[in-house]
Amino acid sequence: MPFDLITVPCLSDNYAFLLRDHQSGKVALIDAPEAAPILAELKKRDWQLSQIWLTHHHPDHVQGVADVLKEHDANVIGAKADEHRLPPLDRKVAEDDSISLGALETRVIDVPGHTIGHIAFYVPTAKAAFTADSLMALGCGRLFEGTPAQMWESLQKLMTLPEDTMICSGHEYTSANAKFALTVDPMNADLISRAKDIEAARKKGVPTVPSKLSTELKTNPFLRPADPAIRATLGMPDATDTEVFTEIRARKDKF
Ligand code: ZN
Ligand code: FE
Repeated sequence: MPFDLITVPCLSDNYAFLLRDHQSGKVALIDAPEAAPILAELKKRDWQLSQIWLTHHHPDHVQGVADVLKEHDANVIGAKADEHRLPPLDRKVAEDDSISLGALETRVIDVPGHTIGHIAFYVPTAKAAFTADSLMALGCGRLFEGTPAQMWESLQKLMTLPEDTMICSGHEYTSANAKFALTVDPMNADLISRAKDIEAARKKGVPTVPSKLSTELKTNPFLRPADPAIRATLGMPDATDTEVFTEIRARKDKF
């Protein structure tokens, strides 16, 4: 593998990630919920940060940036659209921009819904997408700013990535997400077995993030509004995918 990908648990249920390109030794941090665990991980490995990539402006994704920068001279990269409410950016990016981390090339994907300026980072060589609070393990982010139609469009972009892409999402919400998913897709054998695996992992304190896109496509109800069984459960056989997605999101909000 020409790279390292490290998951760093932060706060009560957030994840930050460290991505390191072997060829150049350059390291990127994706989101900074809390400086201490990130700095400890970097120190342990004797890594120096080159870049910080920010997915969106919520405090639980950016509040550690200032303290991380006290020890690392890194370039901060975030969405141009959210420049006014992100920490000071050294580089402002938008849909389809690329970012180079040594030999690792990254593509920016605009994924509004949770917030309007939310972006994701796709790194083909690492087979990884940093999706934070857009596509999550067995879920998707709550719609604080965008519409259901916007989130569904964002998720559809992520659904076109190669199926072996690791979805590096921002929170350990998977156990609660599984309980909800089973209410709209109760007969899905893949989901039933994944829910069991998730319970076992969480009992041992093992993270359920990242997860593979292929697994999400088979089990995450937010990627499956076209599924006949889900439509039957919801009593929406003839609705559009956007209407079914909207109903699933509304039910999750009340769950
Ligand atoms: Zn958020
Ligand atoms: Fe968050």
